[in-house]
Amino acid sequence: MYELLKKDGAAKRGRLSTVHGIIETPVFMNVGTAAAIKGAVATTDLREIGTQVELSNTYHLHVRPGDKVVKKIGGLHKFMAWDRPILTDSGGFQVFSLAGLRKIKEEGVYFNSHIDGRKIFMGPEESMQIQSNLASTIAMAFDECPSSVADREYIEKSVDRTTRWLIRCKAEMERLNRLPDTLNPQQMLFGINQGGVYEDIRIRHAKEIAALDLDGYAVGGLAVGESHEEMYRILEAVVPYLPQDKPAYLMGVGTPENILEAVDRGIDFFDCVYPSRNGRHGHVYTNHGKLNLFNAKYELDTCPIEENCQCPACRNYSRAYIRHLLKAKEMLGMRLCVLHNLYFYNQMMGEIRAAIEAGRYKEYKKEKIAGMRRSGADDL
Ligand SMILES: [Zn+2]
Repeated sequence: MYELLKKDGAAKRGRLSTVHGIIETPVFMNVGTAAAIKGAVATTDLREIGTQVELSNTYHLHVRPGDKVVKKIGGLHKFMAWDRPILTDSGGFQVFSLAGLRKIKEEGVYFNSHIDGRKIFMGPEESMQIQSNLASTIAMAFDECPSSVADREYIEKSVDRTTRWLIRCKAEMERLNRLPDTLNPQQMLFGINQGGVYEDIRIRHAKEIAALDLDGYAVGGLAVGESHEEMYRILEAVVPYLPQDKPAYLMGVGTPENILEAVDRGIDFFDCVYPSRNGRHGHVYTNHGKLNLFNAKYELDTCPIEENCQCPACRNYSRAYIRHLLKAKEMLGMRLCVLHNLYFYNQMMGEIRAAIEAGRYKEYKKEKIAGMRRSGADDL
C-alpha cells in the first residue's frame, strides 16, 4: 500500500508498506547485482549506512546460482541475510544489454548466457517465475529495452509488445501468488513505461499501463545515452500520466544531481550503480563535489573523506590511509569508498524527504546542487 504523505510542487513524499517493512520515499535502492553489493559490502553493513531497499538482478541470479537454488534455501532474504525490502529487476535490461546473440519473439527472448554461452529463453512468465522463486518484495515487469538509436517505427512496435508482455506478467504473478508453495505470496509488481525519447509514445504507453492497476510504475529506457535535458523533458511529459497514488521509479538513474532533478519531476524510487562503481575506483561523493582519492594531494591528508560524515569510513579513517589502501590494491580501500558513497546517497534521500516535508524542496535542491558544483572538487 502506497500513501502519498505530501507534495511540494511535483515532488512526492510517500510511504510504501510492504510485507518486508516500510519504504520511506524518495528512496535510493542500493544495487547488489548478484545478491551482494560490489566492493565487499555485506547486508550487515547496509543496516549501518541507512539502506532501505536492496536491489538484485534477476538475470544474474538466474544464471548463477540459479533461482531454484535460492528458492530451496528459502528465498533471497534468507540467502543474503537481509530482512528488509528487496526489489528484483525483470532480467530484461541485462538480456538486452549483456547477453550474446538474442532473438526477440512474441513469446519472449532467446539468448545465450554471458557466463557459459548456454541457450536461455526468457519471457514474461519465466521472468515472473524466477522473481517468485527469488521471493523479492517487489518484482519488475519483463519489458523490451529498445536501443537508444532505434527509430520511431520500431519503438512503437516494441512498446505495444511491452504492454502485451505486461498483461501476461500481471496474470502470471497473480497465478504464482496463489500457489501454496510460493515463498512470498504478497509479492508486488511494478510496470515499466517505455517509448524512447518520443513524448507522445511515452504518454500513450503510460495511459495504457496506468489502467492495469499495478503496485507501482517505473520509467525505463532512460539514461541510455540521451542528454540529461532530454531525460528531464521526457519525465516532465510522462510522469503526470502515471498514477499519483502509486510509486514512480526512474530506473538506473543516476548522479546526485539527476536524482535531485527527477524528484522535482515526481519520481520517488531510484537505483544506480554509480556510487558503488565510482567507490571501487576511489571516486567519492561529497557536498563539495566528487574527489579522486588517487590524487597525490591526498598523500598526507589526515581529514576524513568528508568532515562530519557519520559513515563507517569517515568516522574512523583518513583520506591519506584510504588513498594508500587504494594504491596498494587492498580490498579495504574500495570497501570504505563504497560504504561512504552509499551512505552519501542514502543521507541525501533523507535530506530530500525532510525538505519536501518542510515545503522547501526547490530551495534545498538549488543549495545542494550549487554546493556540489563549487570549486574544490577534483576533475573527474
Ligand atoms: Zn563518509
